[in-house]
Amino acid sequence: MIKNSFNPNECHPYVRYGRMSDPSQNPRSPEQQFAMIDETLRRVGFPWVHVRDYRDDGITGRLINKRAGFNQMLSDIKSGILQVDLILVDTYERFGRAEELPALRRRLYNRFGVLLLTADSMFCDPTTVQGKALAMVEAIRSTEDGRIKAHNVIRGKRDVARLKHWPGGEPPFGFKLQTVMSDRNGRTEVDYSILVPNPETSWILQLIFRTAHENGWGTGRLAKFCNAHEDIPATFKPFYAATVGYWLQNPIYYGELLWEAHNTGIVEDRRIRERNVEEDMLRIADFCEPLIAREIWDAIRALRQERSARIKAARARNSDASAKLIDAPVPGLALKYLLTGLVRCGHCNRAMTPSSTQPYTTQGGTVKRYVRYVCPGYLEGACPNGTRVSEDWLREQVVGTIRERLFPGS
Ligand SMILES: [Zn+2]
Repeated sequence: MIKNSFNPNECHPYVRYGRMSDPSQNPRSPEQQFAMIDETLRRVGFPWVHVRDYRDDGITGRLINKRAGFNQMLSDIKSGILQVDLILVDTYERFGRAEELPALRRRLYNRFGVLLLTADSMFCDPTTVQGKALAMVEAIRSTEDGRIKAHNVIRGKRDVARLKHWPGGEPPFGFKLQTVMSDRNGRTEVDYSILVPNPETSWILQLIFRTAHENGWGTGRLAKFCNAHEDIPATFKPFYAATVGYWLQNPIYYGELLWEAHNTGIVEDRRIRERNVEEDMLRIADFCEPLIAREIWDAIRALRQERSARIKAARARNSDASAKLIDAPVPGLALKYLLTGLVRCGHCNRAMTPSSTQPYTTQGGTVKRYVRYVCPGYLEGACPNGTRVSEDWLREQVVGTIRERLFPGS
């Protein structure tokens, strides 16, 4: 039994490790890997403290002995020069050959109290049961013949799910895990977990569904409603529209597990994640105790589909002759406005999103609309900063400043 004293909310010191895997394949540079680590860390919000970086440029994972940066890091840890709790990498593959990884990970942890965490698992703790399962999947994925083995792991998880046992990972909001013990060789062990309603959170989830059903509200309004609700403890706040939307469409709340393994892969230097086709999905009815009646779930779904069809139709009407002809290969952000993603809320640091007013007709007869950046947290009631910044004004200021820097005096 491994003692687990890791609490991600403490100020753990960490190093970043980056590695150029194969220069001929346009790999992500160590700088890009570090940026990914920072970005993920910002997103999960852990207060960890950066100590230093180690890197290897242009060396493949097969030659572990020739990786100077990697070996320097290990020897600094062993000698005690480097006092850190965590080594952060962007993906598990950065660490080298899969066969060596579990042993290395164990040795780092058992002998030096150093955890190896990856950004693509949102720094999931590898010493928990879920973390071990994830680490296993990651290790398998990083081998060349990993696809087949990863498939077997997924199949194993699907078999578990068919028995109505929770296949791993965080339980959905409103539920908690209940472990079922069994005796094996005279020892009592955790056999499997099932989902049961969590009395602390199930009522909140039911409130959201009920409110969505009775008032026909969209996810933004529901998130705002929850954030302002006095009976909901602050630990569950803030609520976000995207999360609420995710809950409203999850069939687990009427008791059905939808197992949809995602495919991940690297395409054109970007990590992509796509849903499997319907045949690869597994639906297990009566998987757990329902929190919501099926009729209510269906009614909300119908309402949401109708609303999104309306929005799509409105967008199609608004798009002009310069509509895109080529679809992006991966889901991403279409940069209609120059500064999208770069304008940050001064209060909460969320990326402010452009929003447009209703179109109106000027005296000259042209149709116009105002576009302003606004903090999405404000719209959801999670941030008090309600400032709206005019898109064309800000763009002119920024472009003007850039022009002045590049061509002074022109
Ligand atoms: Zn804000």
